[in-house]
Amino acid sequence: MNDRVFLLKKFPLKERDQVAVVLGEASGKITLLGKNSVQSKRFGNAFQPFQLFSVDLPEKTIRLQDYGESALHLVLGAQVERTFPTISRSLVKMATGSVLNETVLRAVPEQRESSELFKLYANAITAVDETDERACLQTLIAFLLKLTQWLGVQPTMTACGSCGVPVSELPSRGLGAYADYKVAQWKCSSCFSAQPFAGGEPIDVDLIFDFCLGLAHPIRRLEFKSEPAAQIRGLQFLETHYQFHVQGFDREPIRSLGFFRECYSL
Ligand SMILES: [Zn+2]
Repeated sequence: MNDRVFLLKKFPLKERDQVAVVLGEASGKITLLGKNSVQSKRFGNAFQPFQLFSVDLPEKTIRLQDYGESALHLVLGAQVERTFPTISRSLVKMATGSVLNETVLRAVPEQRESSELFKLYANAITAVDETDERACLQTLIAFLLKLTQWLGVQPTMTACGSCGVPVSELPSRGLGAYADYKVAQWKCSSCFSAQPFAGGEPIDVDLIFDFCLGLAHPIRRLEFKSEPAAQIRGLQFLETHYQFHVQGFDREPIRSLGFFRECYSL
């Protein structure tokens, strides 16, 4: 079977081989063993992050003693299908791509059918390539939100988790609501003052609107209204959400987000 894939992570094995974890359009997240792929004409420069390439996948997979539980797909060549050239020229864009890769690596189970997830990842990479560095922040937020949707653990954003008042009826813009990470909701300020909860972080109403947009609209047609500073706080909300609600995170931070924040604030 021929499949189109994005590389999420790779490392060398022996002198001439490489192991690559990829997200395939038809096969989902799988692991490839690129036989003699180091400096090889049959692979060209295909085994690189942030580009689309195609591989022929054998029907049978193999297992390596030193390589845990994963079944490896032995591939003998690869062909670049599409490059996203602006990404490797920008630290912010590379950092954005690293967060996409880390979250897919950690959150997505192997070999789960994934054409929808593949499309989401491809749209996010395309948006990162086509827009300017400032827009990477909203692309990243939208991607992280949509990935929670795909995983079935999205936060409730449209209305207060206690009284159900919709975000459109919150009294004022600004910090008019409180995030309740543990239950993946926000509460309006009246509910919060009536019944405060531990760890309630103020959250911008504009940002809640943007989160609703991010969940409902295609990644490449978004225009967030909230301030960048509010969006950076929004990343914190999402990171905590992943720590509490996404399997594979187990309360651990998203490591590449630290690098993204550093690059973005430069
Ligand atoms: Zn309320």
